[in-house]
Amino acid sequence: MVHLSQVKKGKQAQTQNPDAEGESGSPYVYGTHYAAEELPEHVMADREMPADVAYRMIKDELSLDGNPLLNLASFVTTYMEDEAQSLMTDAMSKNFIDFEEYPQTAHIQNRCINMIANLFHAPTTDGDGDQDCVGTSTIGSSEAIMLATLAMKKRWQNKRKAQKKDYSRPNIIMNSAVQVCWEKAARYFEVEEKYVYCTETRYVIDPREAVDLVDENTIGICAILGTTYTGQYEDVKAINDLLKERNIDCPIHVDAASGGFVAPFVRPELEWDFRLEKVVSINVSGHKYGLVYPGVGWVFWRAPEYLPEELIFNVNYLGANQATFTLNFSKGASHVIGQYYQLIRLGKHGYQSIMRNQTQIADYLAGELEKLGFILMSEGNGRGLPLVAFRLKPNKDRMFDEFAIAHILRQRGWVIPAYTMAPHSNKLKMMRVVLREDFSMHRCNILIDDFKAALKSLEEMDQGMIEKYTQ
Ligand SMILES: *Cc1c(COP(=O)(O)O)cnc(C)c1O
Repeated sequence: MVHLSQVKKGKQAQTQNPDAEGESGSPYVYGTHYAAEELPEHVMADREMPADVAYRMIKDELSLDGNPLLNLASFVTTYMEDEAQSLMTDAMSKNFIDFEEYPQTAHIQNRCINMIANLFHAPTTDGDGDQDCVGTSTIGSSEAIMLATLAMKKRWQNKRKAQKKDYSRPNIIMNSAVQVCWEKAARYFEVEEKYVYCTETRYVIDPREAVDLVDENTIGICAILGTTYTGQYEDVKAINDLLKERNIDCPIHVDAASGGFVAPFVRPELEWDFRLEKVVSINVSGHKYGLVYPGVGWVFWRAPEYLPEELIFNVNYLGANQATFTLNFSKGASHVIGQYYQLIRLGKHGYQSIMRNQTQIADYLAGELEKLGFILMSEGNGRGLPLVAFRLKPNKDRMFDEFAIAHILRQRGWVIPAYTMAPHSNKLKMMRVVLREDFSMHRCNILIDDFKAALKSLEEMDQGMIEKYTQ
């Protein structure tokens, strides 16, 4: 709405001083000199820039980024309800670590820890229903995994020290298809990486091979609940049972970054969590199937004894004693609050409905891609994460590959990665579509049509090339 007084003021300003920004009310963004100049990139400008100009310039630039809704490469949440967004925006200025100032936020974190630990069947020993489990929120699964690795390493070292044995060469056993944060954790904290390699037909850890690799320097075995390549769940129970059978004292950490919020709702009978006695710690990303925007993860230990005391810091901060076990100090409170919103808003039924829908749509998409001639590499029917990993059937006459398909789909805006499988799997090329809650059946059908069109245009290109070079 235009108010008369404003119109008058604008006119006056124009006749008096056409360029006096700030005094003349609000100048038109694209009429200012800023619009005709490059934005500061190397040195801060001497003077302020009007807020609306700064806002517009940055917003315009960001329009070149991909559209998160079309990004089928990522597991990370791209939709939250307005109410959740509003709570998160309100909390943006709260520093999560200031427990004394923001006691309710701290309580909310603890409630999230209780609820998620319960979902993972954290054991209770004292009969009053209280879990022994300890846990903390993190920035994501990466920080959670760093903390879990540190805890396993320290606990192993303490045991070795008590036995007066050498504790200088810790190692950890994992699948070569681990997410990069495991390699990071191992290198940052100086733990030797011992890999169980994938093969051309097996993309998950081989439990026997993993347990065979255990030696006196092994701090733990990592099992993945939903690998990033094919979404398959590794057989945690088989590892657990082999360790028990052979009477080996070696802990398991489950990387449930994605699967932690899927398996409990789609395959509640699957034993992968604290129901297995060798599982001592679990991480999950709140910002993947926990349905919160990027910035939150969780890590849990089945009992305090698995989190060595020397890693817990009691900081006296602004008058209160707090126990913390994190790599960072300050962080925003929004994401923990967003997680609590989702947990109480959706309840088990809500999460289950969403995860079942995604599983169903993933199965449908897998079936359609199979009809188009692709080989499926992921498992359907809720046996793994709701994602479809696939590759082209080998064909010597075909000139295009998975990367070319990805490129054509990108022209429509879809971000669907093509990549090569983990080491030792014969450099298999593959593609992967990750389903998130906002990928409804209707959008799935649009994607299938775009796949058909992409294949058709690539085949025609092949045909054109063949004709061109064979004449
Ligand atoms: C995403 C992922 C991670 C890393 O988690 P962030 O929350 O992105 O830090 C680790 N492991 C697995 C299996 C993952 O899928």
